[in-house]
Amino acid sequence: LSIPNVTLTNGVLSEGAPVEIPQLGLGVFLVEPGETERIVSDALETGYRHIDTASYYRNEAEVGRAVAASGIPRDEIFVTTKLWNADQPRPREAFEESLDRLGLDRVDLFLIHWPQPERGEALGAWRSLIEIAQSGRASAIGVSNFEVEHLTELIDATGVVPAANQIELHPLHQRRELTAFCREHGIAVEAWGPLSQGKSDLLERPEVAAAAAAHGKTPAQVVLRWHVQQQRIVFPKTSRRERLVENADIFDFALSDAEIAAIDALDEQRGFGPDPRAFNAR
Ligand code: NAD
Repeated sequence: LSIPNVTLTNGVLSEGAPVEIPQLGLGVFLVEPGETERIVSDALETGYRHIDTASYYRNEAEVGRAVAASGIPRDEIFVTTKLWNADQPRPREAFEESLDRLGLDRVDLFLIHWPQPERGEALGAWRSLIEIAQSGRASAIGVSNFEVEHLTELIDATGVVPAANQIELHPLHQRRELTAFCREHGIAVEAWGPLSQGKSDLLERPEVAAAAAAHGKTPAQVVLRWHVQQQRIVFPKTSRRERLVENADIFDFALSDAEIAAIDALDEQRGFGPDPRAFNAR
């Protein structure tokens, strides 16, 4: 497998080597308990080098066991985890707990999972993440589900630009204004639910099917290629080994401008996840 890297910019923290993130990885949200270690091991065997987890997913320990068992040098695997909502008042402790569960002394990327604007705790959490990054135990720090106003608050108050914003993004929900803001500020966009989580008919749309037929690829491969051709980072979730291989086999073809435009035209501004401005589950 040859998966390209994307370079993360990390504001005032970028004194050391730039942080490289594999553009495609494996996400493990809602992987059945007991299945995570096996699918992460399969992914690492297949050539994946980027795993996206979160304390909320309750599978950090399984991720860590698979990483350890792989025998792959730590520096060659990119691990992301996230600060859960209830932990925003205690980021340092929650980070230590994540490291303990992962069995690691450092993560590659640590994200604030949701902005929870009405709680007003995200800025304080961001200041703690900056200290964690300065300590070297998170190579990069960022956020997830942040809208423009939430990003602006952190940047204005601290001058530290999140390295990444992980947001729901797929052809039916393209977030153009937010992604333009991220591009202008050098914030890498990570698309969660890149295949719309199996909650729509996206993979049956004729525009997707036509491109798939033209390139001898599957609809999922076409949608993932649409993402990476626009510099986004993706980590489609699967618990099936054959789909791991399928989802990563997207770096040997290119969609034409017309094919990209046809998929761009599918935007319905229709997300399937919670509204980031209102979501505050603990
Ligand atoms: P996804 O779009 O990756 O969809 C996953 C579903 O698509 C799977 O259950 C499977 O049924 C199907 N699928 C996978 N490969 C396929 C293929 N080749 N052909 C057909 N169907 C296929 O949705 P997701 O899992 O929600 O998102 C990916 C990752 O993003 C998660 O695992 C998690 O790491 C992350 N995520 C983050 C947040 C957040 O709030 N930050 C929220 C949701 C997900």
